Amino acid sequence: MGQAKGKALFGRAQKVIPGGMYGHQSTALQSPSTPQFFSKAEGTYLWDYDGNRYIDLMSGYGPNLFGYAHAEINAAFASQLAEIDTATGPSARIIELAEAYVDQIAHAEWALFCKNGTDATSIALRTARAYRGKRKVVLAKDTYHGAADWCTPFQTGTIGEERSHFIYHEYNNAESLEQAVREAGDDLAGIMLTPIRHEVIVDNGEPTAEYAKCARRLCDDHDALLMIDEVRAGFRLERECSWCRFGVDPDLSMWGKLLANGHPISAVLGSEKARGAASKVYVTGSFWFSAAPMAAALKTLELIQTTDYLERTIDLGLRLREGLDSISKSAGLPISQTGPAQMPLVMFNQENGQRDIPITYAFCEIAVEHGVYFHPFHNMFINAAMTAADIDQILEVADRALRSMPARDAIEINPAARAALESFVAES
Ligand code: PMP
Repeated sequence: MGQAKGKALFGRAQKVIPGGMYGHQSTALQSPSTPQFFSKAEGTYLWDYDGNRYIDLMSGYGPNLFGYAHAEINAAFASQLAEIDTATGPSARIIELAEAYVDQIAHAEWALFCKNGTDATSIALRTARAYRGKRKVVLAKDTYHGAADWCTPFQTGTIGEERSHFIYHEYNNAESLEQAVREAGDDLAGIMLTPIRHEVIVDNGEPTAEYAKCARRLCDDHDALLMIDEVRAGFRLERECSWCRFGVDPDLSMWGKLLANGHPISAVLGSEKARGAASKVYVTGSFWFSAAPMAAALKTLELIQTTDYLERTIDLGLRLREGLDSISKSAGLPISQTGPAQMPLVMFNQENGQRDIPITYAFCEIAVEHGVYFHPFHNMFINAAMTAADIDQILEVADRALRSMPARDAIEINPAARAALESFVAES
């Protein structure tokens, strides 16, 4: 596979984009052949500028649920765009979309819309503090809620004081959660949690029902708001809030990524209890009222309600999981596959159970060279445009990768990436 054009783009980006690329779409910590720029996306496939096609297991880091360039969703977007999009006032789509989410999600009595997941989590945080004028918010240690000063995992350029009223606890540890709430005393504004653990590198997975119920009870006891950050997992586990499986409803839920299958929109949904606070906070943005992404979100929600996307992505994820398991066993390379099958985190482990960074890297490098975009340390996302044939092709490539795996000591990794990932492993 040639990569000359991609490398040339990379060189140009180094000159005009800080660091060559910023944020989570920088491939600096991925294997060297990972393409940075793509010219086309359709269904579950991506094409780079050299014409190489990849089966994309990342789904745009989450937004792609029904397939890139989905005809019906894009038609809804385009026809709205032709009527009215960003203007001096919103269209009626904003009401229709709020009504649709209120109908769909049990706890939701109102909705407000923004653009990114970080907008939604930041609005929730402010709303929780406005609710009773209290300051302390309990978060889980190392959980990602976005890139604003209060939550970015890389704190360069922040002053730290944005975090002075956060209390951190161990995710899925009810005792640690209770301790954090005790520390907040009578100043607890809320608890913000993700519905599952889906951090990079560490094992992903669901919390216990006991933990979820404990979070609900503590918020009720302290007249504080329970906020569930559904930005990554929303509608990938349930057609409802993810903790409906535990019988736990939040007061605020935050959504983003897949709401409009890739068109820019995110949302905060709230219960009656939180309506007053949400009406008082001042939140806005130039593009938050744009109608075309709302039309796309309405069509996406219709597909969420009327198709078997959820069952299919689970089945495809299980097919991948079982296939990788048996391939890794026959190659004698221990694999770690955690998280829900449709949001898999796949890494290789050493004999001692520690993450095997070199083998994971080399695996991703060979996969990319054979047309499969596999991520070495972030959870991936199965989308509903994938087929069993795509999964089988991924498995064929995985089999080839593990059979041709170089010895660990012979694997070269960019030293900066190795240092960053090993420090992550050491901390986790
Ligand atoms: N919360 C969670 C759980 C996320 O996974 C993300 C994005 N990965 C965010 C918030 C922030 O979303 P965005 O990048 O759209 O601001």
